[in-house]
Amino acid sequence: MILALESSCDETAVAIFNPAVGMVGEWIHSQIALHEKHGGVVPDLATREHLRKFPVLLAQARDEFGFAGITRVAVTQGPGLAACLAIGVASAKALATALKVPVVGINHLRAHAFSPFISLHAESPEDFDAALEKLLPHLALIVSGGNTLLIEIDRNRRIRVISTTRDDAAGEALDKGAKLLGLGYPGGPFVERLARTGNAEAYDFPRGMGRRDNLDFSFSGLKTSLRYQLEKMSEAEVAAKLPDLCASYQQAVIDALMRKLKFAAEQQDYASMGLSGGVANNGLLRTSITRLANQQRIPVLLAAPRHTGDNAGMIAFAAWIDRTGVDVTSGMGLEINPDATPGNGTD
Ligand code: AMP
Ligand code: MG
Repeated sequence: MILALESSCDETAVAIFNPAVGMVGEWIHSQIALHEKHGGVVPDLATREHLRKFPVLLAQARDEFGFAGITRVAVTQGPGLAACLAIGVASAKALATALKVPVVGINHLRAHAFSPFISLHAESPEDFDAALEKLLPHLALIVSGGNTLLIEIDRNRRIRVISTTRDDAAGEALDKGAKLLGLGYPGGPFVERLARTGNAEAYDFPRGMGRRDNLDFSFSGLKTSLRYQLEKMSEAEVAAKLPDLCASYQQAVIDALMRKLKFAAEQQDYASMGLSGGVANNGLLRTSITRLANQQRIPVLLAAPRHTGDNAGMIAFAAWIDRTGVDVTSGMGLEINPDATPGNGTD
């Protein structure tokens, strides 16, 4: 069984994964309430909160399941906030020493990439390897507050980055847009809720980077365009048009994502498609990617809601996926890698 720790940003999380049955337990403390009043994650506050919460979550995990069956400790090594990662890595090393088991460092984005497969494993653990083989090569969209990536997982479970964002991440675009609209933090869920009753064609926001030969994303123009639009409106007008503004803005983000995903899907024969990261919670995005996969006649795997945002379950799962040694850094010399790329040097 694998005991995993995650602390790359603003979630402190612990999970225990048993390959024979699935996720045994997951414990998570979200720091949203702590950072809300600052309108974004404050690294120093996040670090202190990780230091405070890991002992609490680990004690819960130990009391509920015990650590007797743990054969490996896995921890997020990067990318993420350096001081936050350091708390996780130091805690993992201490645990591994106490439990006399190896410790492995896991790439956070690689874990996101494999997170849609956790549910597949849970359905039938003993058939997982055969099922995975049929779904590779896999085309995936990873969308979170800090990252927007199109990646491919090849038949050897290696990751190739197809494209990234040139400026803001998709979640960041939603969060910044929500801030301009005076909504709560993080903005994505607020935008989605208001958008439900709005008209997505009310405002024509730019889709950015429309070319087919370049699969990179760009969201900074969209945010600027919203700002210009709001400058033309009175406060009362903005309040009255909030649902339309949210629906149009959300549609622009999703259209930009879907267009590049479609171009990528048409370039090569993929066996499946996947969606992960915090923005993967978005209902319209989930429907849109499902429709595209249906058009391409390939299965789609959507990360389960509890595995979309930062979580330790996906770290444990990636550690198991990598049991053959792919992309895993191990041992007491384990260091943080705040600027890690998804392939951990193999992409
Ligand atoms: P993460 O970076 O993985 O922790 O995910 C946080 C990001 O996901 C933030 O940018 C949120 O605004 C975004 N997010 C969470 N839920 C939703 C949703 N339902 N729709 C759109 N974005 C969302
Ligand atoms: Mg987070």
